[in-house]
Amino acid sequence: MKPAPFRYHRARDVHGTTELLAELGDDAKVIAGGQSLVAMMNFRLARPDHLVDIGALHELDHLGVGPQGALHIGALTTHHTIETAPDDVLGPGFAVLRRAMGWIGHLPIRTRGTVGGSLAHADATAEWCLLAVALGARLVATGPAGPRHIPAGEFFLGPYTSVLAPDELLTEVVFPRPAPHAALTEFAARKGDFALVSAVVDLDVEGGRVCGGRVGLGGVAPVPVRVPEAEAVLADGGSFADCAAAAAAAADPPDDADGSAAYRRQLVRSLVERACAEAGGTAEPREAGSR
Ligand SMILES: Cc1cc2nc3c(=O)[nH]c(=O)nc-3n(C[C@H](O)[C@H](O)[C@H](O)COP(=O)(O)OP(=O)(O)OC[C@H]3O[C@@H](n4cnc5c(N)ncnc54)[C@H](O)[C@@H]3O)c2cc1C
Repeated sequence: MKPAPFRYHRARDVHGTTELLAELGDDAKVIAGGQSLVAMMNFRLARPDHLVDIGALHELDHLGVGPQGALHIGALTTHHTIETAPDDVLGPGFAVLRRAMGWIGHLPIRTRGTVGGSLAHADATAEWCLLAVALGARLVATGPAGPRHIPAGEFFLGPYTSVLAPDELLTEVVFPRPAPHAALTEFAARKGDFALVSAVVDLDVEGGRVCGGRVGLGGVAPVPVRVPEAEAVLADGGSFADCAAAAAAAADPPDDADGSAAYRRQLVRSLVERACAEAGGTAEPREAGSR
């Protein structure tokens, strides 16, 4: 199918774009890489009267570590840019992001799809949404009155729903500190599919010992979640297996045609233990898409 008719607008600067969005209201949609929106328009799941193309807002295509060690990623940065970013840009502290990109769709999708588009789209199993929540990222939303900073844990409201207002652009995501002992792993029905369940573990390591960490899960709730019960096990010096068991016990996953709740809980257990081992350096990172 082809999309319903729409009027095309080419954005020229961030401020003018937010003013245009404010004027057009709910009748408008921003388009970045188009990898999610175009399919939704073709299926008539989205029928915007106005399409605002932000592809020429080159100031939103940036990537670099700031003076405090935080990684700043402009919204128009593609998944492939992160996947191929050299060490002197990402450094060892953010290699988890580079490795995670291999799990997103296929190469043509990664060369056009953007970080900001993925976060704004707010798919509960998207890798960027989980990474942002698990690693405590901050999202920058810019409206006609200027930017506001939103913790990732408060950004997602439900499937495909976020706190972004119709007149706001997502302009940047900031990962506040390096995560040198972090890993993402997941299970999908086929290579390149969205994950059924995904896990991110970010360990705190002192003197060669794990003294805490963050555990995040995708595919078990309407939004990506942290799991305090599993994080408490890491803080108490428990084993990776105990951490994984605590995550599985705490998870309340959906039960549907794609997989039963019991199956997803079992996936949580094995994926969290695997992510812990990869993050802790006792297992090699799995190649994206492998079982
Ligand atoms: C076959 C296939 C497989 C895929 N597999 C995966 C996968 O495994 N994991 C995964 O995470 N993704 C997957 N994707 C989605 C892909 O990652 C998209 O790139 C991403 O979800 C959206 O990015 P985009 O730049 O293409 O956004 P678009 O499609 O252009 O926009 C998506 C939504 O975000 C809004 N938007 C975009 N940019 C902004 C902005 N800066 N500010 C405000 N709103 C904005 C748009 O209005 C729209 O509602 C897959 C896509 C396909 C087609």
